[in-house]
Amino acid sequence: MTIDTSTRRPARTRDARPRGEGQWALGHREPLNANEVFKKEDNPLNVRDRIEKIYAYEGFDSIDPDDLRGRFRWMGLYTQRKQGLDGTQTSALSDEELEDSHFMMRIRSDGAILGIPQLRALGEVSTTYARDTADITDRQNIQLHWVRIEDVPAIWERLEKVGLGTTEACGDGPRPFLGSPVAGIAADEIIDGSPALAEIKRRYIGNPDFSNLPRKYKTSVSGHPSLDGAPEVNDCSFVGTVHPEHGPGFDLWVGGGLATNPMLAHKLGVWIPLADVPDVWEAVTSVFRDYGYRRLRNRARLKFLLADWGVEKFRQVLEEEYLHRRLVDCESPAAPTTNGDHIGVHKQKNGLFYVGASAIAGRVSGTTLSALADVVEKHGARGVRLTSYQKIVVIGVLEDEVEGLVADLDEIGLAANPSPWRRSTMACTGLEYCKLALVDTKERARALVAEMERRIPELDTVITVNVNGCPNACARTQIADIGLKGQQINEDGRQVEGFQVHLGGGIGLQSQFTETPFGRKLRAHKVSSAKLDDYVENVVRHYLAERTDG
Ligand code: SF4
Repeated sequence: MTIDTSTRRPARTRDARPRGEGQWALGHREPLNANEVFKKEDNPLNVRDRIEKIYAYEGFDSIDPDDLRGRFRWMGLYTQRKQGLDGTQTSALSDEELEDSHFMMRIRSDGAILGIPQLRALGEVSTTYARDTADITDRQNIQLHWVRIEDVPAIWERLEKVGLGTTEACGDGPRPFLGSPVAGIAADEIIDGSPALAEIKRRYIGNPDFSNLPRKYKTSVSGHPSLDGAPEVNDCSFVGTVHPEHGPGFDLWVGGGLATNPMLAHKLGVWIPLADVPDVWEAVTSVFRDYGYRRLRNRARLKFLLADWGVEKFRQVLEEEYLHRRLVDCESPAAPTTNGDHIGVHKQKNGLFYVGASAIAGRVSGTTLSALADVVEKHGARGVRLTSYQKIVVIGVLEDEVEGLVADLDEIGLAANPSPWRRSTMACTGLEYCKLALVDTKERARALVAEMERRIPELDTVITVNVNGCPNACARTQIADIGLKGQQINEDGRQVEGFQVHLGGGIGLQSQFTETPFGRKLRAHKVSSAKLDDYVENVVRHYLAERTDG
């Protein structure tokens, strides 16, 4: 086994936390939990070699448990939940008992345009190797299910031919990046961040110096004023801003994250030119790698370091120990005034159009992605970007083609003029495939959208509904108008699928209409999954009846 190669260790030892948090920069290199042990024993990136040379030939049962439930994540692979288990069994069963011999596979898009070759590859891989499954995630990934270990090398080969991949799509490393779906084309864009994203990906994805971070690490780079890359809830966000003298550049926001202990990113109030973004990303990520807490998994995200240090100390360490220069001060950008989901038809700055369209809660299929390639080709569009709201945006459409494209998208289940319910409902993977889930989400969200479209078709505003299968908040429980955290609840003496409700949260444009970005968790607001339609209808009817201007 090779030893972890992430060895940069600044000499400073200024941190005041007691020994035992496992911070490398303070000399604590001995692993303090099982995850740290397997990461130190063998860099997780090395697992690819074993998949290609051993496991794909010898099958599921040959896989070393530390690889299967640990290092495989660095290749975008999680074992999938065994079919037929209900939510009460999630905490009662072991990993081995919960898992199937198939995998969920996450494919990164990193804010890039998926052209016809990429869409065709995704469609083919799904239909050939993943039982025609495909979900668009709110981190701009395509997620497949039912993948067999024997097929993984062939899938990689097909994806990599068109520049796609799964490296570090999960695990304690730089997870898939969020970019603006309208980077480089939106008339109201402050700055196009896509060259910086591409360069960060080129330098650091698959780079062993950054593949053993304390925990998952989420990046967002967007120069669109709608904050369409959800910078508030990423670990490291570059946010378009304008300096009065230097012009367009990026502010740096750090330490955002949801799950338990949700925290919004801290704004540094700086100006970073486009060309410096990759270097600053490296510096921020190095602070996290070296000073991040590695003792308790539930305290290992960057947000906990920020909570202890505060933003001033973070900036000081970043500048003095890593960048070796001061960042330029600049007021943070104003709150957005437009919606960042990009749904509908919009004019690009070059006179072409982009069209944002919605499946229901991100669920598509390989067949849909292949059909989408056909639609893009038929109408001469440039390609598609995924959004951080589980939607797609077709880019580069001639004005004469818009109407036909919108009709063809509709035919394949992608609505450019969706109902407010369909537009604003997201769902995580949930009980269908996720081992941590307590309740079903995708099918529940689909049924909720259909029922609300029938019961309140006249809805004249955006009401965001985020359906999550457990407290991990992959579909951002806390920052929706109606955020639903899956749990088993007691109803008439029986355990049934249900949700803890969080009401009135929102980021981006929605944050202007809320008292706090995080919805209020009301003790009495637990609702069974079976009664969710009635609950949402009640809440929304009361809201519509009692709302005031603004
Ligand atoms: Fe799985 Fe929970 Fe994340 Fe949903 S929120 S995908 S159930 S871990």
